[in-house]
Amino acid sequence: MTERPPAWPQGVTARTRDVLARWQAMLSAAGNGTSATATASLFDELGVYLAQLELQHQELVEATARAERARGHYAGLFDALPVPALVLGRHGMVADANTQAAALFGFRGPAFLQRHSIRRLIQRPPYPGWFDDMLDAGAERGVQIYPAVDVEVTASTVVTMDVHVLALTLGDHGDPHRLMVFVDRRGEREHERERRLFRSLLDNSDTMIYAHDRDGRCLLANASLLALIGKPAGEVIGHRRDTWLGASDAAEHGRHDARVLSTSQSLVYEEEIHGDDEPTRYFISHKFPLLDGEGHVFAVGGITTEVSELRRMELRLQLAMQVFSKGTEGILICDDEARVVAVNRAFETITGYTEAEVLGQNPRLLTSGKHGPEFFKALWDTVATEGSWEGEIWNRRRNGEVYPQRTHISRVIGVGGETTNYISVFSDVTHKKMAEEEIERLAFYDVVTGAPNRYLLHDRVQQAIRVSSRRQESFALLFLDMDRFKDVNDGFGHDVGDALLVEFAKRLRTHVRDADTLSRLGGDEFVLVLTGVDRPVVQSRAQQLLDSVMEPYQVGSHHLTMSCSIGIAMYPDDGATYEQLLKHADTALYQAKGAGRNAYRFFNRRMADAALRRVTMEGQLRAALETGGLWLAYQPLVCFETGRVCGVEALARWRQADGLVVAPDTFIPIAEESGLIMRLGTWALRESFEQMRRWERDGIGGFTVSVNISARQFLHTDLPEVVKALLEEFACDPARLELELTEQVALKDPERGIDIMQRLRASGVRVSIDDFGTGYASLAYLNRLPVDGLKIDKSFVQQIGADPNSDLICRSIIQLARTKGIRTTAEGVETAAQEAYLRENACHVGQGYFYSPPMAGSDLPGWLRTRAWQA
Ligand code: C2E
Ligand code: MG
Ligand code: MG
Repeated sequence: MTERPPAWPQGVTARTRDVLARWQAMLSAAGNGTSATATASLFDELGVYLAQLELQHQELVEATARAERARGHYAGLFDALPVPALVLGRHGMVADANTQAAALFGFRGPAFLQRHSIRRLIQRPPYPGWFDDMLDAGAERGVQIYPAVDVEVTASTVVTMDVHVLALTLGDHGDPHRLMVFVDRRGEREHERERRLFRSLLDNSDTMIYAHDRDGRCLLANASLLALIGKPAGEVIGHRRDTWLGASDAAEHGRHDARVLSTSQSLVYEEEIHGDDEPTRYFISHKFPLLDGEGHVFAVGGITTEVSELRRMELRLQLAMQVFSKGTEGILICDDEARVVAVNRAFETITGYTEAEVLGQNPRLLTSGKHGPEFFKALWDTVATEGSWEGEIWNRRRNGEVYPQRTHISRVIGVGGETTNYISVFSDVTHKKMAEEEIERLAFYDVVTGAPNRYLLHDRVQQAIRVSSRRQESFALLFLDMDRFKDVNDGFGHDVGDALLVEFAKRLRTHVRDADTLSRLGGDEFVLVLTGVDRPVVQSRAQQLLDSVMEPYQVGSHHLTMSCSIGIAMYPDDGATYEQLLKHADTALYQAKGAGRNAYRFFNRRMADAALRRVTMEGQLRAALETGGLWLAYQPLVCFETGRVCGVEALARWRQADGLVVAPDTFIPIAEESGLIMRLGTWALRESFEQMRRWERDGIGGFTVSVNISARQFLHTDLPEVVKALLEEFACDPARLELELTEQVALKDPERGIDIMQRLRASGVRVSIDDFGTGYASLAYLNRLPVDGLKIDKSFVQQIGADPNSDLICRSIIQLARTKGIRTTAEGVETAAQEAYLRENACHVGQGYFYSPPMAGSDLPGWLRTRAWQA
């Protein structure tokens, strides 16, 4: 049998075939050939096995090469890791460390590796059992991160790092390995810490910190700024200032930023924020440029402090300083031991001491000696117990003058409750004191004469009433009024009038005892209270007063004579109260005046009735003016040269309801007092014109009509206008009208009086002065008056032949008129002797009962006819 060698499985190497072949030969030589078939199958199997071995070896070689390549890759990657990394082997022993880890842990060479266990490197594990946990975890857990683990890097240095762990399966046996990566987050944490620190510094700062970029947008704003603005950061950061500030404030702050940007300099500004309703707030802002990495300014930083309170305090301080230095009240500040530490200007002015002179001194140097030690003891006791004292102290100035000061002393308490200072604030009340005395004087005494005024009089009279009623005595209240005092005032001026009043009061005082009171009520009215007197005593003293008053007065360069009238009321007969007594004395005075002045009258009931009548009369006169109860009587004026009637004087008459005719001397003063005189005056003018018309109709005329004009009417109506209008209305020749004025009319306001007279005369009306010689007007003054004639008062005319003085006066007046080239009229001519004297002395015109009493206008034509020889 031919045996075919078995076919070798593919992949069996030549060497394997060779070994197998030799083993086959050996077996054949020794064998019995019986099992050749079995041997062959054994060879086959062996061959297959060998082939398999061969294949496996092949694969191993390839795998080893692949593993070698992978290992190279792994080592490169492991080393290139940017962070320290370890490979841990079994039980946590360090199997590998990359360069970073070796540097971190200080491993030198591979030999060191095996000696280190992770348990030694990480001394404080994140939690107990962490090592086992970490080492047991399988790959399916992925990467485990343990933050902030303390790792001992060298013997004494512990670094807190994040530890990342990843389970690895290395090697054929699937040994558990761990890749451990250390992430050092110190820098990052440091940065975070710094950021937090910075933020908390920013936000906890009371000052406002912020930054704005070149466009004015906010880059940074701390909590203080946000609180000031009242907006959350989101509404501030990235926005411009005008979204939270008023336009003008935003613009102003922006300008400051711009200045910092343009100059690249740190600058300090005072900035303000104006609220709508709130007071302005004040700030100090430090602004500085912020530079980027390349040194370019990219924004403006700002640190702002609010100084509003400071500013207010500053203002208050300034005010306090002003009060201290400029105030009119003296201020003296002492230390706790009463040594002067400061004084102000006013102190220097009031006391006369300079600050230098009093510093360190005891304020005692100002004492006047007017107060005793007990005064000051009480003062300081009050300061000690109540903290302050207020009152008046008399001190002494440097020049020795003693003066009163209103003083307020207060104690200043320090923080510890101790007294630190005493402050004295005071004002010099010298003037106030004087003023008080002056006010007292003004309130109760008359300024001109120094006599008690009506208030004090009231007091004194009430006192007299009390005393007299208790003692059952009587007293007298004398009401004195100077006669024609007004004329003195008008004629010589108020200065002379006042001086005369003073002299007059002096004279009265010589008759006044201590118990009596002389008081001036005002004007020329005085009241004298004589206590403990009865009627006969009062009577004689009143007469003494009248006599004494009549003595001439020398006032400046003027010699004046004066008389007065006195009305007397007795307590208790004429009144029980001050008011009644005064009123009744006044009534009596009126009677004394009415009796021709220079007289005294005691009050009696009839007088009260007369006073009442006077008041009633005023009402009746008013009514008469309206209902026509008044009429004019006319008295002829006779020209001495021709013996003809050259004019008539219109004289007012009042027929009362009972048919009684009242004379003008009674009602003209009432009309003047009540103001009715204006209407009465105009009525008299109009009535005169109407009468002239009637006379013309009756065929008489060609003479003048004289109308009396009262002083009040003269000055208070526009007389020239009124006259002119009436002349026109009645188409009357102005030369037919003559106006009789009294001396006083022009005395009050001479220039105006003269002007009115001139205007009247310019319109053709004639003007004369009535009752010439009875007033106070000086001859020099009368000489200036633009008049056409003078009327000699009847009191002089009637004394012709009886009183040489009157003769002289009459002659002088005629002479004066002659030199002025004007006419003289003598009124009240009653006798042929008077007429003869006047004719002799070249008087021009006569008027009087000698020719005719005043008559009704309607009677004149008849009268003229019967006296044809005169007309
Ligand atoms: P009078 O202007 O000086 O007038 C002269 C006064 O003397 C008149 O008094 C007249 O009646 C009076 N009389 C005339 N002849 C004699 C005489 O021979 N003997 C005496 N004993 N008296 C004579 P009557 O009429 O009582 O007027 C008094 C004063 O009243 C006037 O004085 C005048 O000042 C004023 N008066 C009169 N009528 C008016 C008037 O209409 N207006 C103004 N304002 N005053 C008037
Ligand atoms: Mg007259
Ligand atoms: Mg007269």
